[in-house]
Amino acid sequence: MVRYDVAIVGGGPAGSATAITLARLGWRVLLADSTAPGRFRVGEGFPPSARSLLNDLGVLDGFLAAGHRRSYGNVSVWGSDEPHMDDFIFHTHGQGFQLDRAVFDSQLRAAARQLGVSVHESTRLSQTPDEDGFRLSLARDGQEQPAHCRWLIDAGGRPAVFARQQGAQRLSDDRLVAFYLLLHSSQGTDQDGRTLVEAVENGWWYSVLLPSRERLVTYLGDLDLLDRQQLLNGEGLWRQLAKTRLLSSLCQAHDYRPGTSVHGMDASSGRLSVFHGLRWAAVGDAALSFDPLSSQGIATALYCGQHCAQAVHAALQGDPAALPGYAELLTRIYAAYLDNRQQFYGMEKRWSESIFWNRR
Ligand SMILES: Cc1cc2nc3c(=O)[nH]c(=O)nc-3n(C[C@H](O)[C@H](O)[C@H](O)COP(=O)(O)OP(=O)(O)OC[C@H]3O[C@@H](n4cnc5c(N)ncnc54)[C@H](O)[C@@H]3O)c2cc1C
Repeated sequence: MVRYDVAIVGGGPAGSATAITLARLGWRVLLADSTAPGRFRVGEGFPPSARSLLNDLGVLDGFLAAGHRRSYGNVSVWGSDEPHMDDFIFHTHGQGFQLDRAVFDSQLRAAARQLGVSVHESTRLSQTPDEDGFRLSLARDGQEQPAHCRWLIDAGGRPAVFARQQGAQRLSDDRLVAFYLLLHSSQGTDQDGRTLVEAVENGWWYSVLLPSRERLVTYLGDLDLLDRQQLLNGEGLWRQLAKTRLLSSLCQAHDYRPGTSVHGMDASSGRLSVFHGLRWAAVGDAALSFDPLSSQGIATALYCGQHCAQAVHAALQGDPAALPGYAELLTRIYAAYLDNRQQFYGMEKRWSESIFWNRR
């Protein structure tokens, strides 16, 4: 049976950043991700300030060569009927990107593999604790392979299945959900690389032009205030989109039509009650998850991945203060995030009767 120092559940940005950093520190690392490579994933806005994190991980050159779509700013209809422009030319970090998430995630895993990490794609990892760590099972195509690790990191995204099995609870701060759809245009005239954000009476929309030239439109609202069945039927979401101003006129101008079915997903803000325990830690969305309005999820996953790896490195060498220090960092990040979230939502005062906005 192959033995590892650390096994990581989940090969999204958090898992890969943790794996890259641990491998550089000299540990034997296993990284398993259950998603089939190439599958479309939502979560594409990469803010200008996050570039330095890719540099720290040693993956910036490959990233710049990968053909992600450059983004020059944001346009928002938020707090006023008039669109507000935020042009990245006035920011010190330069332009941002609209990622091809499948390419981005697999590039990070490839960087981890190059550093000696044992990367298993399309593979589900499960575990059973034993006296010196965890017995692992790697399941792929109906086959199971055993392994062993001393430490385990939950980078498995919002469900945080492993951390919850260890007794952590997910503390949610709202019930935000996202419904998204990819639009196709026969004209191919849309060149607008900015992120469009538009508040409406019971939630808000965002839209980006993806590297594939498809336009992603996403509607966000509270689970208990929406008609989920109606939105999951493509016509329902399309009818809601027709009520927007900025977004519907953009769709008309380029003759966009629904190109896929509608998908719904959790987009709530939340954190774990504890971020680490006996020989385990959580990172990325598994530990802290943010409202997509923040565009902060990927950058925080990369940043915390590096800190999580350093804390586990120190803990493996017997430092009892490393993981509590990591937990304090996460607590501070989440508190600052909640503060920002309140300020942003507080700017929208046009619908005094709306439960969605009153909750915020
Ligand atoms: C609608 C929406 C829009 C968003 N837009 C943005 C945006 O524009 N910009 C931004 O920065 N962030 C955005 N985010 C957030 C961003 O996508 C996440 O913060 C980011 O993906 C977190 O990375 P992660 O590695 O922690 O988790 P994930 O990316 O979720 O990766 C976790 C991985 O673990 C795998 N996994 C789970 N369990 C197992 C197991 N047992 N074995 C093996 N693998 C497993 C999963 O398949 C998955 O691939 C958005 C989120 C939503 C919901």
